[in-house]
Amino acid sequence: MSVPKYWREIPYHFRLEGGICEDCGKAFIPYRHVCPYCKSRNIRHAEMPKTGKVITFSILHAHPKGFRKQAPYVVALVELDNGARVVSQITDCEAENVKIGMRVEAVFRKISEEGPAGIIKYGYKFRPVFQNQLKK
Ligand SMILES: [Zn+2]
Repeated sequence: MSVPKYWREIPYHFRLEGGICEDCGKAFIPYRHVCPYCKSRNIRHAEMPKTGKVITFSILHAHPKGFRKQAPYVVALVELDNGARVVSQITDCEAENVKIGMRVEAVFRKISEEGPAGIIKYGYKFRPVFQNQLKK
């Protein structure tokens, strides 16, 4: 991803911003101009809740460019507490401990590094809410 594109997407990366449809009330992330549920264009920007649960996940052993140091890693479909769904990496948790239905919260982390110049991107990942209890 180019730097200008990344810059434009900062509201999404930094504030976990999405949209809420004023007609059907559904929330989604990232923000879209047309509601994916009812096709309404009556959408307002909204900050999303930072907690949710894991709907489904995959453990990835291969790694896309920029993720080299992180394999294997877990990518999950997370349903936030307002119903919006977001695909995100799960962090601070061993891959074998990730479970469907697990409560997770958004944390701000380094996402990837690009090339030797190392453009470091930051954004949200999700980690288990009861992290300390899982370690016991
Ligand atoms: Zn709608």
